[in-house]
Amino acid sequence: MLRTYKIAVLPGDGIGPEVIDVAVKVLDSVQKVINDLRLKLIYGEAGYNCINKYGTNLPQKTIEILKETNACLKGPMTTPEEPGAPPSVAVTIRKMFNLYANVRPCKSLPGVWSLKPNIDLVIVRENTEDLYSGIEYEVSPGKGVALRVITREASERVARFAFKLAERRRRHLTCVHKRNILRITDGIFMEAVHRVAKEFPSVHVDDEHVDAMAMRLIKEPEKFDVIVTTNFFGDILSDEGAQIVGGLGLAAGANIGDNYGMFEPVHGSAPKYAGKNVVNPIATVLAAKMMLEYLGEYEAAGLIETAVNEVLSEGKVRTYDLGGNATTQDMGDAIVEKILTKSRSI
Ligand code: NAD
Repeated sequence: MLRTYKIAVLPGDGIGPEVIDVAVKVLDSVQKVINDLRLKLIYGEAGYNCINKYGTNLPQKTIEILKETNACLKGPMTTPEEPGAPPSVAVTIRKMFNLYANVRPCKSLPGVWSLKPNIDLVIVRENTEDLYSGIEYEVSPGKGVALRVITREASERVARFAFKLAERRRRHLTCVHKRNILRITDGIFMEAVHRVAKEFPSVHVDDEHVDAMAMRLIKEPEKFDVIVTTNFFGDILSDEGAQIVGGLGLAAGANIGDNYGMFEPVHGSAPKYAGKNVVNPIATVLAAKMMLEYLGEYEAAGLIETAVNEVLSEGKVRTYDLGGNATTQDMGDAIVEKILTKSRSI
């Protein structure tokens, strides 16, 4: 039976259109192998490029596209920094669709430098509160206060997501916080994680302070499976995590809620490389792979993962960040070719 999904595709700014173009070609090739899978791609405009035209970086028409689709594949977008400019599109979409879990896998890839050969962890970051509530005051000249909002409800919700993920993996969850200093806010977070732990008796839980975690990600990253943490700590740890397994050109992320998912490369719009056909499209290709997993299309996701691993381990096609001089399109073509050589396994 045909399985059909509607996917919003937002190419974004800078290198976005180039990397999204490769990810779309990869998704097209997957559908040639798995011929009962149909992805109806609906393109939307978003990003810095929209501001002059629409007065916003997320036009209403694009919001309507997001509302009528099952998931979104989002390219990187340039975030304006001028005072009064619209907030980041990613942050707006996360809030609008309540995408409360930010999921960032960090896995050693074949043929790519990584700190240890056997790293395979996932950082699950609470995506809706903490210092990102943006509640700040200048209480008197030169004296600022930012509010760190942490609730039991949001903490339990993200903890449950992380435990479900750990159950499907190696059943080890590490709760990262700084409760020794932030006794109330991180007390609420930590207690929520341990309360939810009772629903998942097969998962081993331990705790780590965020500073120790930053150190252990360098010293012994292979010892971790799923890490769950608050928004700000997760933001920092997940960039560290990307770097220990080969850098931004390979790092993908998901933003998942109860009814929608948005998938994107971790990197930004890298304006200096825009239009040059040189950046690595794998981060965006792996974001598309995560989107297929979210949709329950594990065979399709597996095809992409295997193809990427094969291209990387052969090492013949390498973009500049991997020490080669292949183009963005060369990398895409190599992945597509690998996918098309697979015949359907079921
Ligand atoms: P960036 O990630 O765009 O680029 C930093 C550097 O990383 C690049 O100069 C390049 O050397 C390298 N790089 C990034 N992507 C790569 C790829 N696919 N292959 C190889 N190398 C790659 O970060 P930035 O320069 O700090 O930010 C540029 C713009 O992107 C800013 O406006 C920022 O706000 C925005 N941004 C958007 C997102 C998003 O849309 N989710 C995320 C981060 C940054």
